[in-house]
Amino acid sequence: MSKIVCVLYDDPVDGYPKSYAVDSIPKIDHYPDGQTLPTPKAIDFKPGALLGSVSGELGLRKFLESAGHQLVVTSDKDGPNSIFEKELVDAEVVISQPFWPAYLTAERIAKAKKLKLAITAGIGSDHVALQAAMDKGITVTEVTYCNSISTAEHAVMMLLSQVRNYIPSYQWVVKGGWNIADCVARSYDLEGMNVGIVGAGRIGLAVMRRLKPFDVKLHYTDRHRLPLSVEKELGATFHPNVQAMVKVCDAISIHAPLHPETEHMFNDALIAQMKRGAFIVNTARGKICDENAIARALKSGKLAGYAGDVWFPQPAPKDHPWRTMPHHGMTPHTAGTTLNAQARYAAGTREILECWFAKKPIRSEYLIVENGKLAGAGAHSYSAGNATEGSGEAVRYKRA
Ligand code: NDP
Repeated sequence: MSKIVCVLYDDPVDGYPKSYAVDSIPKIDHYPDGQTLPTPKAIDFKPGALLGSVSGELGLRKFLESAGHQLVVTSDKDGPNSIFEKELVDAEVVISQPFWPAYLTAERIAKAKKLKLAITAGIGSDHVALQAAMDKGITVTEVTYCNSISTAEHAVMMLLSQVRNYIPSYQWVVKGGWNIADCVARSYDLEGMNVGIVGAGRIGLAVMRRLKPFDVKLHYTDRHRLPLSVEKELGATFHPNVQAMVKVCDAISIHAPLHPETEHMFNDALIAQMKRGAFIVNTARGKICDENAIARALKSGKLAGYAGDVWFPQPAPKDHPWRTMPHHGMTPHTAGTTLNAQARYAAGTREILECWFAKKPIRSEYLIVENGKLAGAGAHSYSAGNATEGSGEAVRYKRA
């Protein structure tokens, strides 16, 4: 028997839904690069249900308990007295989501003597101290591609809403106004803009494909260059580094993972090289941007807008500068957890667990760390090291 600790976000404030806005969600056959969707032997949930909150349990309880395992599900994840920290000590498997991350720091890993497998029910395993996991022989996995398109759609929405000044215009309506001049004094067309993508992986490439019909000029930077045929299809210009790219861009959308190479990439020095009045969209990870540098640049007018879905730590303390800085369009890490995405990452989590307990290999595209080193998708897109430092600050969300 194994103990599995699963950390999920809280249920809605009005309770777990009894019905949904939409009766059924579309069935997707495969991902854009041909990768198959998760293939568990069975699922015990209805796609379209809220699976990512505590009562949804990722649809895993029946499957795990009928196999004799113990499942603990909690949202209480921060601080030494949290349920997560207490239950971790004898857990074999930890399941966590990036939206409400159970930070598996090196200190927590040292206390979790039985821990063998960390599953990210989503994409992005930076909330796990990857170097510490490598040192302790812990396998780290994520459900690659499960919410890449969900996030790409969110990034395009954010870019349009920033450039068109959508959120303040909406607020004028709610306030009973008809203040057209106030709305449009910061409203522009996306058409013709130079838009730069940091990290043209699954999400970055999907964003480029979605932006192309807006007749923007696309730019990108990445550790590996896209095939020339794809560059040609998109009319995209490759830049060998982010410094060269930001100088020519009116808007930037960030899609690289957080790892030591990308931590605080957008700091005062890089922002200083951007055009005055540029926009940044960040659906990748909060820590890729220096939070105070972003707030300063919005206040000074160096940046025209910043829309982000990701923060550090999460949940962000009530006094986080991104909650109150001007011209922002922040969401509380929701891009990759639509009901559609939840069905895919719940099924992917089950597929990983089925493989783990049957001692069968886990798909290489789901692997981040295995046998003490970066593996599979992780070996391609991450660098060694930990990016969890400072995550203890998440406990301040409750206190404030
Ligand atoms: P991929 O691994 O497909 O793409 C990431 C890309 O970033 C890769 O092409 C990678 O390069 C590139 N990259 C890595 N390091 C650098 C660097 N230093 N400079 C420039 N590019 C770099 O991942 P996804 O597109 O699926 O996801 C990207 C990230 O988005 C995730 O890691 C996660 O943090 C975030 N995310 C956010 C979600 C949300 O809800 N807001 C949901 C899902 C993901 P290469 O592989 O060529 O080396």
